[in-house]
Amino acid sequence: MNPFRYERASDAASAVALLAENPNGAFLGGGTNLVDHMKLGVAQPDLLVDVARLPYDRIEPLPGGGVRIGATVRNSELAADRTIRSHYPMLTQALLVGASGQLRNLATTGGNLLQRTRCVYFQDVSKPCNKRIAGSGCPAREGYHRTLAILGASEACIATHPSDMAVALAALDAVVRVLGPNGERTIPLVSFYRLPGDEPQRDTVLEHGELITAVDLPELPFATRSHYRKVRDRASYAFALVSVAAAIDVADGVVRDARIAFGGVAHVPWRAAKAEAALRGVPATEEVFSRAADAELAAARPLPGNAFKVPLARHVLVRTLLDLTGQERRTNREPHHTGYRHTAGPHRWSKEGHRCSTIRLRAPGRRCDVRVSGAKSAHQGPGRVDRRERRACASWCRYRALARECAASCVAEYC
Ligand SMILES: Cc1cc2nc3c(=O)[nH]c(=O)nc-3n(C[C@H](O)[C@H](O)[C@H](O)COP(=O)(O)OP(=O)(O)OC[C@H]3O[C@@H](n4cnc5c(N)ncnc54)[C@H](O)[C@@H]3O)c2cc1C
Ligand code: SF4
Repeated sequence: MNPFRYERASDAASAVALLAENPNGAFLGGGTNLVDHMKLGVAQPDLLVDVARLPYDRIEPLPGGGVRIGATVRNSELAADRTIRSHYPMLTQALLVGASGQLRNLATTGGNLLQRTRCVYFQDVSKPCNKRIAGSGCPAREGYHRTLAILGASEACIATHPSDMAVALAALDAVVRVLGPNGERTIPLVSFYRLPGDEPQRDTVLEHGELITAVDLPELPFATRSHYRKVRDRASYAFALVSVAAAIDVADGVVRDARIAFGGVAHVPWRAAKAEAALRGVPATEEVFSRAADAELAAARPLPGNAFKVPLARHVLVRTLLDLTGQERRTNREPHHTGYRHTAGPHRWSKEGHRCSTIRLRAPGRRCDVRVSGAKSAHQGPGRVDRRERRACASWCRYRALARECAASCVAEYC
């Protein structure tokens, strides 16, 4: 790690002034992402301005309705807050499926929004990466891109944004409050993040030295009926392959309004405006939900290694909307959608040294164990499924080609 200076900011104005003077400085929240990057050599700031103790640690009601979340509110406090739990359950759920208890105790609201992509090449300084070094190339296109974007990517970068919290905030029309050298400004969260274009080094529209002070959540009465569903390779401690944050308002069987955002599919938390438009004013049925998902995903441009994300995103959205409207799924009934039980087995170490978890698909009189072996750490590449056991799973599963993803979703959904 390079040497750096550490300053603890006493107030927001001095934090902003300190960074304005230092073009290679950075704010420090809980440090759970930035410090990792400093150890890896991905980030090399020469000044850290610690903002975690600034007085932005409250969750307060807004005068006109809604809630203001201070930038230094820890992820665990936010998830536990009574108002958030009752008025915006999808936000609580998104936080609780992210990282681990210890990490959530440290991670701040501001830092969570600005965490950087988990693309393996971005985190490996021995590899080229346009996001880390402009113009150096993007090995992910031809290389490992299973976890990367299917929507809104560019030739320069196909990274995905990793935050779960930001997906729920995008669906909730959150607004980010910022203080910079030129004063305060507010930015709707959906415009806060950038698509990669030709400048993938910039994740957001923030300028150097701008400090996030709060996130405002407008009142959204039907968000009390909302849900965040995340599909990932392991039951915990893993980033989303695909996630959906959704809220739906239905009266007399007809959709009055909906809010939907996808995670794990793009460089930004992907607000699904086309799907929302396709839902408004039509009966809340499975067919309509499927059409809405198709409307959004028509723009998907997957690569060979992540093509599975398109049907996965479709199924996750349809399933979430069905759950929110209290309906059973009628089509595509895989065994695991018809009363089969799924349990994650104990973690083991395989001969190759990979960490394995056993996913059991159980039904009366039948049993199939699918072993999914995950990499030892996020930096070591994809998880794998033993071939023999994959066949066993595939024989049960209508999505044979997707047996691995199917197994992964079983863990996320049921365990
Ligand atoms: C093993 C592991 C698993 C994880 N799994 C998940 C997961 O499943 N889902 C998920 O969503 N996240 C996950 N995370 C990421 C975690 O949520 C983030 O590391 C955390 O939210 C970052 O918050 P922080 O306060 O620690 O940010 P920091 O690391 O302190 O900062 C991150 C960035 O934000 C900037 N920053 C911090 N505060 C401010 C501010 N107020 N204004 C302007 N800039 C600021 C910093 O300069 C830095 O660039 C995981 C992390 C780890 C290590
Ligand atoms: S996808 Fe983006 S982050 Fe990943 S290697 Fe390519 S440029 Fe870098």
